[in-house]
Amino acid sequence: MFVGIDIGGTNIKGVLADKSGKILSSKETFTPETAEGILDAACLLIENLATSSSISKIDIKAIGIGAAGSIDRKKGIIITSPNIKVWKKYPLAKNIEKRTGAEVFLENDATVALIGGWWKGHGSKFKNWIMLTLGTGIGGGIIIDNKIYTGQSGSAMEVGHMTIDYNGRECKCGSKGCLEQYASATALVNYVNEHLKDHKRSTIRNRIKDEELSSKMIFEEALNNDELAQNALKEIASYLGIGISNLVNIFNPEAIILGGGLSLAHKIIIPIVKKTVSKRSLAGLKENIKFMPIKDQSIIPALGAVKIAIDSTASN
Ligand SMILES: [Zn+2]
Repeated sequence: MFVGIDIGGTNIKGVLADKSGKILSSKETFTPETAEGILDAACLLIENLATSSSISKIDIKAIGIGAAGSIDRKKGIIITSPNIKVWKKYPLAKNIEKRTGAEVFLENDATVALIGGWWKGHGSKFKNWIMLTLGTGIGGGIIIDNKIYTGQSGSAMEVGHMTIDYNGRECKCGSKGCLEQYASATALVNYVNEHLKDHKRSTIRNRIKDEELSSKMIFEEALNNDELAQNALKEIASYLGIGISNLVNIFNPEAIILGGGLSLAHKIIIPIVKKTVSKRSLAGLKENIKFMPIKDQSIIPALGAVKIAIDSTASN
């Protein structure tokens, strides 16, 4: 048995599966704010996955983990994570190994989403495609000629840090005008915060009296026809379309698959992205591209982490 865990800025998702990718159990929890808290939550999730599929922890052969940020996969260390700031040179794999006794393999969160999509998701139908993970930040991955392309150091496709405005908003990475400053869940929430004062009748104004403003709340209110929520999603989608137009011009993909929490708003986002790509990308490159959301955001990235655990132990 293998466990796959996907740790993002907002949620931790996990699945327990066999070698064929058949899922025996799946669980989800919020991401705590401290490194110790995240470790506890991930280990508890692993225990719960085992308990609810009536297997012993000893039967877990290996654990794959997808985590937001730049990673050293050999050492199992998270070097930095713009969205989980408490991780700095943090030995996540070793700490989970100590607690669980199973071998642990660390990978970037966008890469696990890509591998999950390639193994068991919509990506299995295409040879050349791109995954964008839209969450607290924006990650990405690419399959070229049915092979994963990861670059020299294994960190290729940091699409969230593609410059779309050379003198634009400051980014946590130190650069300016990065795509994720305009098209992530964080950017969506920032847009609503900035424009709330101009929308006196927005239903969001009532909701934030009792709960914190979140991207999920913004999707819900957009579906209820709230003008501010709809404007915010339209703006995010237009910027995302600009980033994707660049990717289309460079890679000429068959498909663009959107993952991450924001992909839940795909019914609003995808038509705008398509329009932007058709306006901005080159003829001969932009035709016949399929745009779609990830098959199942709560399962596919964690399944990708399972696949990494399976392949890593097989090569030992
Ligand atoms: Zn950046």
